[in-house]
Amino acid sequence: MSKVIYLDNNATTAVAPEVRQAMEPFLTEYYGNPSSMHTFGGQVARNVEEAREQVADLVGAHPTEIIFTSCGTESDNTAIRSALAVSAGRRHLITTRVEHPAVRNLCHVLGQEGSVGGGYRLTELPVDSQGMLNIADLGDALDDDTALATVMWANNETGVLFPVEDVGALCRSRGILFHTDAVQAVGKVPMNLADLPVDMLSLSGHKLHAPKGIGALYVRRGTRFSPFMLGGHQERNRRGGTEPVPSIVALGKAAELAKARLQEEQTRVRALRDRLEKGLLAKCPGAMLNGHPTARLPNTTNISFEYVEGEAILLLLDQHGICASSGSACTTGSLEPSHVLRAMGVPFTAAHGSVRFSLSVYNTEAEIDKVIEVLPPIIRRLREISPFGRDELARAKP
Ligand code: PLP
Repeated sequence: MSKVIYLDNNATTAVAPEVRQAMEPFLTEYYGNPSSMHTFGGQVARNVEEAREQVADLVGAHPTEIIFTSCGTESDNTAIRSALAVSAGRRHLITTRVEHPAVRNLCHVLGQEGSVGGGYRLTELPVDSQGMLNIADLGDALDDDTALATVMWANNETGVLFPVEDVGALCRSRGILFHTDAVQAVGKVPMNLADLPVDMLSLSGHKLHAPKGIGALYVRRGTRFSPFMLGGHQERNRRGGTEPVPSIVALGKAAELAKARLQEEQTRVRALRDRLEKGLLAKCPGAMLNGHPTARLPNTTNISFEYVEGEAILLLLDQHGICASSGSACTTGSLEPSHVLRAMGVPFTAAHGSVRFSLSVYNTEAEIDKVIEVLPPIIRRLREISPFGRDELARAKP
C-alpha cells in the first residue's frame, strides 16, 4: 500500500517503532506468566511493574494507582460500575451529552428502567455551541443521591477540553466520586493527578502509539473500588486475567515516549493543526470550525463544510491517500449526524458535512500542505453537484 497521509489519530495511532521493539522480546523470549513461582515468570513480573511506573509517571500518579485493562472501554465500564457498587443506595448518575459511546451507552443502559442493573436516575449535562460544559449546570445537578459524575477530559470528535479540575473540585466538595474518560487527553496534554481532584481516570494504549487491546484505569489511593473482571489475584485483586505482558510493556514504553513528546504535541503538532485549520477555513467558503477555539487538544480540528456530505468528502480524500474521519470511528456506518455536534446545536446541513482531522507527531508540514491543496477543489466539486451547495456558491461569488 502506498504511503497514506494519516490524519485520523483520534481513531487510532501507529505503533511507535520504539514501542514495537520494546514489546517484541515478550512475544518471543520472555513468555512466562508473571504470576508463576519460577524465576522465568517472576522476571517478567518486574517488567510489568516497570511499565506501571512509566504509565503512572505520564499522568502524575503512584504506580499502585494504575490497573491495566484491555482498553479504554473496559476502563470506563469498570470505573462507572465500581462507583455505583461502592455508593450502594445512591441512585443518581451524572454524565454529559457528548461522551464517547464507551461511557454514553453504558449510562443509557444504567438509566433505563427495567434493564439489568438499570433504573438509575441519569442526568446528561448539556454543552454550549462551542462544545463547552457550563460548570454551574453540574452544580445544579449534584444532589445527595448522586453516586458519580463521569465527565470526559477531551472530546474525541472536537478535541474540546472540559474543566476537569473545576468538575473534580465541585464533586469533592460534595463527597461525590468523579471519573474522567481521558482516553483522548493522555499524552496530548500535561497532567499531574497527584494535584487534581480526580478519583478515577481511563486511558487507552492505541491512542498513544501502543497497540490495540491495552488500556489502564487510574484509581486514586483510598478510593473504594469494586472489580469488574473477577478471576485470579492479578492487579492486586482489582482485575482478574493473566496480564498481557507484551501489550503492558508496550503501553509503558508508549507512555515514556508520550511524556518525552508532550512538548512537541503542544508546539509542533499544534502549529501543524493550526496551519491546516487556517488553510482550510480560508480556502473553503462557508467552512466553519466545530468546537472551542482555544480550549482544545493540540492535535484536533473538526470542520463543517455546509451542504456537502462528510462521507463524500472522506471518499474523495481517500483517493488521494488522505485518512480523516466524519465523527468518531465507532459511529461511521450510521447516517445519523454525530451526537456531539447535535448537542452543540450545529445545524443539520453542517453536521452532515463535518470532517475531523486528528494529527500526531508523525505528521509533516508537507502532508498538511497537500491536504490544503487537495481539499478545497473537492469541496467546490461536491457543492456544484449539491442543489443547496449551488445556491451557497452563487451567494459566495462577488
Ligand atoms: N473514550 C474516548 C474518548 C475515545 O475516544 C475512545 C476511543 O475512540 C474510547 C473511550 C474507547 O477506547 P478503546 O477503543 O480503547 O476501547
